[in-house]
Amino acid sequence: MNNPMTKWRYEAIGKNITEVLKEKEFDAHYADNLEEAKKIVLDMIPEGAVIGLGGSVTLNQMGLVETFREGNYQLIDRYNCEDHVQKYHEAMSSEYFVTGTNAITRTGELVNMDCSGNRVAAMIFGPRRVIVVVGANKVVENLDAAIARIKEIAPINSKRNNHTTPCTISGFCEDCKTGKRMCNYLTVIYHGMKNPGRISVVVVGDEVGL
Ligand code: SF4
Repeated sequence: MNNPMTKWRYEAIGKNITEVLKEKEFDAHYADNLEEAKKIVLDMIPEGAVIGLGGSVTLNQMGLVETFREGNYQLIDRYNCEDHVQKYHEAMSSEYFVTGTNAITRTGELVNMDCSGNRVAAMIFGPRRVIVVVGANKVVENLDAAIARIKEIAPINSKRNNHTTPCTISGFCEDCKTGKRMCNYLTVIYHGMKNPGRISVVVVGDEVGL
């Protein structure tokens, strides 16, 4: 992030949403940049832990997937496998599930849209701990704005995953009806009160991910 005023804004948003998330019983942390965020995540996970992953540009930007592969962890590697669905099943009972999120509202709701549902399912139930890394650029005013943001990003995600959907041609959501549709499961995690501290959220005061 080069523009200092934009960076200032993301820092302000990031610090504020971190406090909002804490009030909602999320284990929330603020990081000034991706390096700091990576250290916070790695400090949470003990060596030898079984780790599942949600698909995330943010995690790749942090180099976390490589670190998990090379380190002393039992990574359920959804990117390096024959059978993705099997890995999705295994990740449901991982000790730590590490993922991004599509949007967070100003009032601390985590909003996500999934193609297969494996990511949103694991965020809600299954893994003992969930660690979410999110850039302050994903903080939006309310649920409507979160869904609008998701719809704007979905064509890029579809293109990135080589899905042959009409949005990869027009750049806009065409509400497609194909088996390759990316937008199938919309979830809102309203708060962390059911299992306080189960979900950690590391907020980066910068523009990160899609
Ligand atoms: S519903 Fe279909 S066309 Fe719309 S963004 Fe999702 S994948 Fe693309």
